[in-house]
Amino acid sequence: MKYCNSCKRHVEPVKSKWSWKWFLLLALTLVGWIFYAMNHFIFKKEDRCPYCDMDQLSKLSPEEREQRKRKRQHRLEIRAEELSQGTDEMADNTMITYDKEAEKLLQEATRTFEDGDWGKAIKLIDKAIKIYDEDEEVLEVFPAFKKKARYLYQSGRNDEAWELYNTLYHKCDSNRSLLAQLFEEKGKMLIYEQKHLVALREMIMAKIYRDWSYLDQGREVEIDYEWTENEVFVDLAEKSDRENRWEEVRAILVEAYDDLENLPFAEVNLKVKKVLR
Ligand SMILES: [Zn+2]
Repeated sequence: MKYCNSCKRHVEPVKSKWSWKWFLLLALTLVGWIFYAMNHFIFKKEDRCPYCDMDQLSKLSPEEREQRKRKRQHRLEIRAEELSQGTDEMADNTMITYDKEAEKLLQEATRTFEDGDWGKAIKLIDKAIKIYDEDEEVLEVFPAFKKKARYLYQSGRNDEAWELYNTLYHKCDSNRSLLAQLFEEKGKMLIYEQKHLVALREMIMAKIYRDWSYLDQGREVEIDYEWTENEVFVDLAEKSDRENRWEEVRAILVEAYDDLENLPFAEVNLKVKKVLR
């Protein structure tokens, strides 16, 4: 059963209707009708509503989605509670700079940006970045770069932000936690630019890297193997008119997660890209 968003009811999906008009038209081409018939009987998927013949089907009705959301929320709360009792929060999402002076400059940059002086704020971040040596551990300077990229695109300097992300990609080398953050940041920028489809792909890659880093850190309990806990995916799929594709993508990912450690990243990336095209 699926939910038809047009009829607002649950329906059993059917194939789109057989069209005699098309069949007869193609019959004039001598062989076209064969392909038409083959397509109809063999290849066509049952992806239409039997009442309105539209393909506005989704797995869940809005009410069901709301219900799931509440359940998910509840699971998250339990998990957060468990975490607060046991594992301590890793520093990978916070702006830890390991340097007092840099810290001060970044705070000043925040204030300056909020006051609307975007250019000056970015210059302050550059100053903070200069505190670190060129070949310094990327982990330490990463938060400053991240902040700079954010301010760049938020002040309309998207090209510079992209360039920075590309530079960072090489700096991150094979640090999975940083790569996860990098993909996330790129995703956020794309959302900011309303490019939801590309953002969705970046966010998927971010989750894979995030979960790999969880494996590295022995935090396997935090991995959502079913890809259902974070709403950002469904949300972005909806916003990019790929809502009916998300389940297919999710199936690919869930299957790949059977062996997460050895997940073939490029291959999965390509498969996802194809489905979301
Ligand atoms: Zn319908």
